[in-house]
Amino acid sequence: MKKNIAIVGAGFSGAVIANQLAHAGYTVDVFETRPHVAGNCHSERDAETGVMLHVYGPHIFHTDNERAWEFVNRFSEFKPYVNRVKAITNDRVYTLPINLLTINQFFGKTFRPAEAAEFLTSLGDKTIENPLTFEDQALRFVGRELYEAFFKTYTIKQWGLSPSELPASILKRLPVRFNYDDNYFNHKYQGMPADGYTTLVEKMFEVPGITVHLSTPFDPASKADYEHVFYAGPIDAWFGHSEGRLPYRTLDFEVFRDKGDYQGNAVVNYCDNAEPYTRITEHKHFSPWEQHEGTIMYKEYSRQCEENDIPYYPIRLARDKEQLERYVNIARNEPNVTFVGRLGTYRYLDMDVTIHEALNTADKFLACASEKSQMPAFVVDPLA
Ligand SMILES: Cc1cc2nc3c(=O)[nH]c(=O)nc-3n(C[C@H](O)[C@H](O)[C@H](O)COP(=O)(O)OP(=O)(O)OC[C@H]3O[C@@H](n4cnc5c(N)ncnc54)[C@H](O)[C@@H]3O)c2cc1C
Repeated sequence: MKKNIAIVGAGFSGAVIANQLAHAGYTVDVFETRPHVAGNCHSERDAETGVMLHVYGPHIFHTDNERAWEFVNRFSEFKPYVNRVKAITNDRVYTLPINLLTINQFFGKTFRPAEAAEFLTSLGDKTIENPLTFEDQALRFVGRELYEAFFKTYTIKQWGLSPSELPASILKRLPVRFNYDDNYFNHKYQGMPADGYTTLVEKMFEVPGITVHLSTPFDPASKADYEHVFYAGPIDAWFGHSEGRLPYRTLDFEVFRDKGDYQGNAVVNYCDNAEPYTRITEHKHFSPWEQHEGTIMYKEYSRQCEENDIPYYPIRLARDKEQLERYVNIARNEPNVTFVGRLGTYRYLDMDVTIHEALNTADKFLACASEKSQMPAFVVDPLA
C-alpha cells in the first residue's frame, strides 16, 4: 500500500500545501533536513539578548495579495511594521529607495517633486536609446553620480557581477520616488508575525493527518513509497545534479551583540567599497513593539554558493536559464512529483508569492484528483 503524500521541505511552500491537503483528508508526511520548520524564514529568540532573530536573514511580510494575507492571518497576529532602509555611501547617510530626500541631500538641493524629476531627466544619458543592461538603464534614468553612489558597487558586492552583465529589467523594479515616501515596499499590507515566523508555520502543521519529520532529508528513491511528492528542495539536487549545479549566491552572517541601540534602524546598506559587507541588520528593530536591553546584529556578506553552502539567491542569467530548462524538461517526464517553491523552481520568490503559489498548487492537486487527471510537475512555469 502506498502512503498518501510526501512533502519535502517544511518552509512556507511545504507548510501551506500540507495544511491544505490535510484539511482535504489526505495523510501527509513532511520531511525537513533542518532541525526546525519555516525554511529560510525561521526565527527564534536569541538566548543572550532575548531578541527575535531572523536566523537566515531578515524577513518582512509585504503583499497586495488578499488571499495570501488572509491565509497567514489565520495563524498569527501581524504587528504593523514599515521597512525604512538607510544607505551609507561616501561617508554620508541617505534614505532608500531613492526619493526626494535622497536627491535633495545628495545634490545639496531643495527641489520640489517636478523640479527633481526634471533634474534627473537632465542627468540621464540620452545617447542610450535602448538600454539592455542594468548599467545602461541606470545611466539613462538616474545618471552616473546616483548610479555609482547607490547601485554600482552594491550590485557588485551582492551579485559578484558588474551591472553591465545584468539585464535592464532589474532596475525597472527599483523605484525612484519624487516625494518623501521612504517606505521601502509599495504594498497594501506589511507586517511582522507577533511571535515570529516559526511559530506561525508550526501552526500550519497543526492539522490531524500531518506528521513532520525534522532533521530527516528525503531521498528521491523514497518517492516510490508515496502516491505523490511535493518537492520544495533544489531541483538540481533531485536529479543528482546530472545537468550540473545551478548557480546561487549564498550569504555569510557575521553576528555581533551590543547594548542599547546599535544603529537606530533595522537595515543599513553599505553601498560603496569602504566596507566589504552589503548591509548591517539590527534584529530588535524588526520587532519594535518589544523592549530588550541587549541587541544583536548581522553583518551580511554575499558570495558564490559552493557545494555545502545554503543556496539563497538564484542567479538566473541567460546561461543559467538554459541549464534550468534542461532540468525542467527532465522534470516534466517525472511522474507523481510536483516541484514547488523557490528552490524547486529556481526563482526568487517573496513569502506572499510563495504562499499564493502553494495555495494554487494544493487547489490544482485537489482538482486533478477529482477529475482523475495527472498532476503536473509544475503549477507555475519556472522558465517564464
Ligand atoms: C536573505 C533573504 C531574505 C528574504 N527576505 C524576504 C522578505 O523580507 N520578504 C519576503 O516576502 N521574502 C523574503 N525572502 C524570500 C523567502 O525566504 C522565501 O519566499 C521563502 O523562504 C520560500 O519558501 P520555500 O518553502 O519555497 O523555501 P525554503 O524556505 O527555502 O524551504 C525549503 C526547505 O526545504 C528543505 N529541504 C531541501 N531539500 C530537502 C531534502 N532533500 N529533504 C528534506 N528537506 C529539504 C530546506 O532545508 C528548507 O528548509 C528572503 C529570502 C532570502 C534568501
